[in-house]
Amino acid sequence: MAIAENLKQILKEIDDKATLVAVTKNRPLEEIKALYSAGYRVFGENRVQDLVEKFELLPKDIQWHLIGHLQTNKVKYIAPFVRLIHSVDSLKLLQTIAKEGQKNNRIIPCLLQFHVAEEETKFGLDWEEAKLLLGSNEYQSLENVKVVGIMGMASNTDNQEQVAKEFETLSRFFQILKKDYFEKDEGFKELSMGMSGDYLLAIQKGSTMVRVGSALFRK
Ligand SMILES: *Cc1c(COP(=O)(O)O)cnc(C)c1O
Repeated sequence: MAIAENLKQILKEIDDKATLVAVTKNRPLEEIKALYSAGYRVFGENRVQDLVEKFELLPKDIQWHLIGHLQTNKVKYIAPFVRLIHSVDSLKLLQTIAKEGQKNNRIIPCLLQFHVAEEETKFGLDWEEAKLLLGSNEYQSLENVKVVGIMGMASNTDNQEQVAKEFETLSRFFQILKKDYFEKDEGFKELSMGMSGDYLLAIQKGSTMVRVGSALFRK
């Protein structure tokens, strides 16, 4: 199936219940241009270098999301243009993003990434770490950065029950944080979860943003 057809199909399934982040990592420019020509503008990359390269080569009305792990020393490369950083997993990183946001005279939207999968290798905060971060004076004094929600990745498993449980955990974290730390803040509204294999399940569990790569490029 052509890329434009895949896009149309996936958008139809999502049915405006969530924002599709089209994950273009490891895909050639021609394929990304096919999505662009089909009218799509919200793209995600997991590596800073690829994000910067593609930003430079492609039309400037694309909204670029960083979805992969971010090192503090690389924030400066994406700070001028990144539309949303999904992968904030420390106060130090948030402080660096704020500093670079200030240099670029903008407020950079971010999601806090949670670790809910069974793999140790995945990044992210646990519940206690997130509460410490949001409760800290350092966090509360930050300008030029805005936490607009949370992100998480489920375990890489065929066990749909486990994936569903992990999505439920993320959804619960999101609801509690919203109530306890962002009650009067309508900007805190994104729950980024779900990928090619599980985006419909994720939406059932409350996802507002799905990050879909391989399903878009399926032949
Ligand atoms: C690659 C990637 C995705 C998309 O994965 P697919 O299975 O190809 O849809 C989503 N989120 C993150 C963080 C990724 O690195």
